[in-house]
Amino acid sequence: MRIVDMLTRSRPSVSFEFMAPRDESEVDVLERTIAALAGHGPDWVSVTYRQRTGEKTLELVTRIKRQYHIEAMAHLTCANTVDRTRQVLNWMEREGVANVLTLRGDPPSAGEPFVPADPRLTHASDLITLVRGSGYRFGLGAACSTERHPESPDLEHEFRYMQLKVEAGAHFLITQLFFDNRFYFDLVARARAAGIKVPIVPGLMPVPSRRSLAVMTAMSGATVPAALQAEIDGAADDDAIRALGVRHCIAQCAELLEGGVPGLHFYTFNRARAPIEILAALRGQQLLAS
Ligand code: FAD
Repeated sequence: MRIVDMLTRSRPSVSFEFMAPRDESEVDVLERTIAALAGHGPDWVSVTYRQRTGEKTLELVTRIKRQYHIEAMAHLTCANTVDRTRQVLNWMEREGVANVLTLRGDPPSAGEPFVPADPRLTHASDLITLVRGSGYRFGLGAACSTERHPESPDLEHEFRYMQLKVEAGAHFLITQLFFDNRFYFDLVARARAAGIKVPIVPGLMPVPSRRSLAVMTAMSGATVPAALQAEIDGAADDDAIRALGVRHCIAQCAELLEGGVPGLHFYTFNRARAPIEILAALRGQQLLAS
């Protein structure tokens, strides 16, 4: 089923992002996380794409669909040549993958430049154009930023290229993580004023630890509100940070749901506990259907 169809019905969708494992040591945790979260009613899930282990994404997506009967979207980046990208897309089509999240991809580490494998695939919009121009029938998602992307001079630049991705054929957008809903509501208002009608799904990260927060804010450009930062600074340990991250995320989700979002997309970092606690709180407050 196309994810965009789930995002345009009246009930907000719940979805989880899983990270494709880097090596065998990460497989057990991931398997347990998928099994645990599958029991909490996601409408769909997605699996990240890593440069050197792309085939793991494809295996995982098809297995989640078969084993758990949950719609699973494959992320795909500009990490490959056009020829290799076509092979991957053909494989996905054969295996019945219905949705692809088209991305440029992260640079090897924050601050380093992204080096494309093929000069014809330097931005996510090039990948969307390739998929659309080749007649594939996937439902297509794309990423967008609510705050300045680390490589952008300003939000204006970001907005222009978000618009280009929609014009090229993205059916829906998922935001980078953010901790202040004002950025999300501003982006949606601006998009609607510019005639962009596609669903914009908020991407949410319950703060996992001080270290992960530092990495993720550097990679994404997300800022931490002063009050939340002060709480994090005063927290005794990572358990306390995790608990206040869950509290903050519940409050964010409650406001987003009241604001009429098409869905909630959780960056799980392959951990089930925080999303389970957040969903239980939102369902307990009748903000989400059980
Ligand atoms: P783009 O849209 O190509 O944008 C990248 C930068 O280039 C931006 O600054 C943009 O403004 C600018 N730009 C865009 N188009 C043009 C153009 N035509 N000309 C000039 N400048 C342009 N990374 C992974 O490696 N694997 C994943 O699985 C993955 N999953 C993600 C899932 C989500 C929901 C999100 C939000 C991000 C994910 N990322 C992933 C990270 C993502 O790849 C990075 O945020 C990356 O820096 C930007 O990706 P993009 O698709 O938005 O790129």
